[in-house]
Amino acid sequence: MKEASFYNVLDDGKILCYLCARYCRIPEGLIGFCGVRQNIKGKLYSLNYGRLIAMHVDPIEKKPLMHYKPGTWVMSIATAGCNFACQFCQNFDISQRRKVNEPYTSPEELIELTVKRRAQGLSYTYNEPTIFAEYAIDVMRLAHSKGLFNTWVTNGFMTVEALDDISKYLDAATVDFKGSGNREFYRRHMMVPESEPILDALLEMNRRGVFIEITDLIIPIDIGSDLRDLERLVKWIIDNLGPETPFHVLRFHPDYRMLNVPPTPLKMLEKHAEKAKELGLEYVYIGNVWGHPLENTYCPHCNHTIISRLGFQIRYIDIEEDRCPKCGAKLNIVM
Ligand code: SF4
Repeated sequence: MKEASFYNVLDDGKILCYLCARYCRIPEGLIGFCGVRQNIKGKLYSLNYGRLIAMHVDPIEKKPLMHYKPGTWVMSIATAGCNFACQFCQNFDISQRRKVNEPYTSPEELIELTVKRRAQGLSYTYNEPTIFAEYAIDVMRLAHSKGLFNTWVTNGFMTVEALDDISKYLDAATVDFKGSGNREFYRRHMMVPESEPILDALLEMNRRGVFIEITDLIIPIDIGSDLRDLERLVKWIIDNLGPETPFHVLRFHPDYRMLNVPPTPLKMLEKHAEKAKELGLEYVYIGNVWGHPLENTYCPHCNHTIISRLGFQIRYIDIEEDRCPKCGAKLNIVM
């Protein structure tokens, strides 16, 4: 347990947590929505500081991050809790857990293990890293001092104030949308009042030079699978982050409280991907479909295959520094 960094004490004795855009007001003795921040005698504590529930070395492609250090390995960590309550969460046993009883791993121990296992960076993933920000920041600072990079897989619902500290050490982020950010979808299926704060966080990450990839989970139900929602999201990305932003259309698989919905039909995913390309995005992927041609990275100018993949495995990379070897176009890939 560690005192939290992002809170104010209000006149009525409650605590206002401004780590994420829920801005919970937490009375004495109680915890916030994420289940891991408690008001104890007028101070806010992070209950999950260093209490890691998962620790694996993964290929960076699994996050997915296709354009940032392709072919590297990342120590991937998570704690209990989450600030979202998605009915379809694939990690619900971690994210919706409200008990923290995992053993403590110090930032120093974690970095030592990362180096020992020959990972080149770290990924803060599986549950929302924002809700263990104090620990993540301590680990990220240390990681940089050892020449390791930091990547987050995030729902993007952190505040701009929190990003002030987080972004100092954050190199790349996969920001996950669901249902193309449809507000009604977020309310009904994720218990999230609005998706707009994610756009503010994206602008801030972009301004601070964090490398961004975006995913969009498409669930085959009425709300959130409409091409007009995708169109709105893609246009926003192009206007605000640029057409070179990698974009992943992800297949849904039934899980948790959405076992009655079938996996997303391939045709629906392909229609979404096609639309995203038509609107002007240069790097569009289809995720969670093993062996699909849109697992590969193609040069947006001459269509040459730059990175050939099978699932999370790289078959080959054909790039000259950051340029296409065939037509010489500059590519948005960090090697
Ligand atoms: S981080 Fe947790 S306690 Fe803080 S505002 Fe978000 S959900 Fe509430």
